[in-house]
Amino acid sequence: MKTIKTSAADRCASPGLISVEQAIEKILVQAVPVEQVEQVDILDALNRVLAEDLHSTIDVPGYDNSAMDGFAVRSEDCQVSGSVLPVTQRIPAGQVGTALEAGSAARIFTGAPVPEGADAIVMQELCQQVDDEKQGNMVTVNTVVKAGSNVRRAGEDIAKGCVVLRAGKRLRAQELGLLASVGLAKFNVKRRLKVATFFTGDEIVTPGQPLAAGQIYNSNRYTLRGLLQAMDCEIIDLGIVPDTLEATVNVLEQAAAGADLVITSGGVSVGEEDYVRIALEKLGELSMWRIAMKPGKPVAFGKVGEALFMGLPGNPVSVFVTFLIFTRALILKLQGAEDYHAKRVPVIADFDWPPIKRQEYLRARLVNKDNKVMAQLYPHQGSGVLSSASWADGLVEVMVGKEIKKGDIIDYLSFEGLF
Ligand code: AMP
Ligand code: MG
Repeated sequence: MKTIKTSAADRCASPGLISVEQAIEKILVQAVPVEQVEQVDILDALNRVLAEDLHSTIDVPGYDNSAMDGFAVRSEDCQVSGSVLPVTQRIPAGQVGTALEAGSAARIFTGAPVPEGADAIVMQELCQQVDDEKQGNMVTVNTVVKAGSNVRRAGEDIAKGCVVLRAGKRLRAQELGLLASVGLAKFNVKRRLKVATFFTGDEIVTPGQPLAAGQIYNSNRYTLRGLLQAMDCEIIDLGIVPDTLEATVNVLEQAAAGADLVITSGGVSVGEEDYVRIALEKLGELSMWRIAMKPGKPVAFGKVGEALFMGLPGNPVSVFVTFLIFTRALILKLQGAEDYHAKRVPVIADFDWPPIKRQEYLRARLVNKDNKVMAQLYPHQGSGVLSSASWADGLVEVMVGKEIKKGDIIDYLSFEGLF
């Protein structure tokens, strides 16, 4: 029997539509990371992308030190529980003691250097210290001590000369702490990405203004700004653009002149009032796709001058979802980040879903049910229902033609990992 191999396009059951996977590929292939770098102070480096490999010039920790408040000893002196030793010195953090004589102990505190000769720390809870005129300063160690216990070794976190972080790493809070721990105060990062936005639609109005009949508020602007801010982009906001070809062409030209990337919402369908597509064709190159995806079927991608262009749909949930699935990866790659693919984690469905023709992104939440992590859905999954995105903590990805039954393992994309 002959097996027929199907391409991703064939598997997508809607003719004329391309798959999500293909769309991501087509977008990323055009994304060339920005080249310019700038030096930043570590205080201003959150979310920036590292432009160089950073090495450590020191060991971290820089010296063997105590992991506990307790007593530094030679383990050979404490091979039976109840060993009694004279306490000959006191070493708080920030001070260096003297070599520990055989048969003695040093009072020591967390972070203080382990004195020469000592090879273990006994936590104070296992010791009894007596300091009086009759006996002098003595400690009874109520445990058998193993060499190396409670000692943090020099260089166990980072060894001198090692690469601490590589170019392409996006700096989160923990990376900033790590760089600080090796004493780095300034380093090179990629320059910030300039993203121009505008929002099409004669019906949309800025919040704070009254609404006339037939008008709606421009929610997409705020969703998009929030996403772009979270991704540390420099935003050039060109506001609301009326549904005319002339206005759209003008603003698109202006947007492309000053930005690395232009992102718009609405006007990318094939309706009579949709001018983004035509404006793009006039000024640059258009790759207009109907993507086998729900929400977010129409997405325009292309180039105007030096700027890349991404025309997101108008529906508020579609904007949010298409940004997370396409624009996010595009921005990360342009920013020079190494890691731009969204992570899926397997969870258990707490719902049924029929087989579908377009890959779906359902707004979902994880709950703990009988000690299992299960995904539940917002009851109304319409592409205009923005409450679903606010209620949710992530997206469930449903592949074409795959029926989901309660209890099935499914792929979940947490918003936490996305922005
Ligand atoms: P369009 O793609 O322009 O036909 O828009 C699709 C739907 O999204 C319509 O219902 C629009 O009213 C709505 N929409 C477009 N732009 C926005 C926006 N900026 N904020 C909220 N809804 C919008
Ligand atoms: Mg419109």
